[in-house]
Amino acid sequence: MNTFLTAFNDTEIAFISKTDKELKRARFLFRMMAITWLVNLGKKLLGFALKGGFPINWAVKPTIYHHFVGGSSLGECAPAVLKQSQYNVKSILDYSVEGNNDPAGIQRTLDETLRSIVNASQDENIPFAVFKPTAFASHVLLENASPGKPLNEMLSIEYENFKSRIEILCSEAYRLKVPLMIDAEDSWYQHLVDETVENMMQKYNTREAIVFNTLQMYRHDRLQYLKDSIARARKGNYRMGIKFVRGAYMEKERERAAVMGYASPIQPDKKATDLAFNEAMLISLDNLDIMDLFCGSHNEESNLLLACEMDNRGIARDDKRIWFAQLYGMSDHISYNLASQGFNVAKYVPYGPVKSVMPYLLRRAEENTSIAGQTSRELRLLQAECKRRSKLR
Ligand SMILES: Cc1cc2nc3c(=O)[nH]c(=O)nc-3n(C[C@H](O)[C@H](O)[C@H](O)COP(=O)(O)OP(=O)(O)OC[C@H]3O[C@@H](n4cnc5c(N)ncnc54)[C@H](O)[C@@H]3O)c2cc1C
Repeated sequence: MNTFLTAFNDTEIAFISKTDKELKRARFLFRMMAITWLVNLGKKLLGFALKGGFPINWAVKPTIYHHFVGGSSLGECAPAVLKQSQYNVKSILDYSVEGNNDPAGIQRTLDETLRSIVNASQDENIPFAVFKPTAFASHVLLENASPGKPLNEMLSIEYENFKSRIEILCSEAYRLKVPLMIDAEDSWYQHLVDETVENMMQKYNTREAIVFNTLQMYRHDRLQYLKDSIARARKGNYRMGIKFVRGAYMEKERERAAVMGYASPIQPDKKATDLAFNEAMLISLDNLDIMDLFCGSHNEESNLLLACEMDNRGIARDDKRIWFAQLYGMSDHISYNLASQGFNVAKYVPYGPVKSVMPYLLRRAEENTSIAGQTSRELRLLQAECKRRSKLR
């Protein structure tokens, strides 16, 4: 049995980067987030304050923002990047401003994403750049696209604009040799993203994987899509870069499908999602000769499966084609323990002004209420480490 199999429980390594004060602050935050009514009340109050233009920084910045966000700009994230790097955990700086889809907002996000690519090219502790494709498409395209429905003239123009923005980003990433991750969001326009990203892979992944698409394994069609994409990459002679996630928008997907009367794209249950995710890991390892694989997950079993399989197959733990990743402020027990065992690990570090990252923070708060079960794990680990340290005194 590999030594790292039990190591996720090593809280000393998991929280090695935290001072006692930081540890206690994190424990307090996760205790608060476990209280469902408090999270709901907080959401309402913040929504009200944002609409009314009342200041919220004083409440949000030292608490939830500090825990889950690197800073308001690339420069402000530098201390977090440096701190993680001391424990061999790399950073991926993610400009997390959402819903700015007017032309000026799109341009601002494009400029900032280009800056983040340049920034990554200058820092060995930032191995990837990343963006959300929705930041570069107009509302009209996002709302009216649907698989199998041809685009009308106006939507075709919007689609061309979208593709040219993605091309600007991919060509800059290629020029600077910075692998570029493209997130996945709602399924009803993902076919446009897939088509665009696959074209970019054909163009820029001829020698190494620069462009990475994201597959959400909670979609029941994604395993087949993966197999088909591998076949296309083999035929077209380019490398595939794939980030695998389970998927973050399940409720929204199911609700929309029910309201609009089409079959839900989501797996029937959690087990089916887990099986598909794990099978995707194995398929990717089988195809490493043309694939780079990025496992974006807080699921202990999936991370262990990938780590064990790498060892069993004799793949070096620091093989540059394989990365593990978690979100900043979450699952440090996975990140820091895997990194200490020599695997490639990165954390997604979101950044942006407080107001703009609120949707991201609200998602983190929601998934960390006691119902989601995640808090109990984070809280349990934080409590265990507080206890361990207090015994040393
Ligand atoms: C580095 C990183 C990058 C990410 N990038 C993206 C991204 O680009 N796009 C995106 O959508 N998400 C992204 N996510 C979030 C991710 O999709 C998951 O929501 C989150 O990581 C929780 O899944 P998990 O693998 O950590 O494991 P778990 O906590 O074990 O799984 C929870 C997930 O399982 C699935 N699930 C739960 N219940 C059911 C059910 N009843 N039926 C079917 N499936 C179910 C859902 O996807 C749910 O999020 C990212 C996560 C990380 C760590």
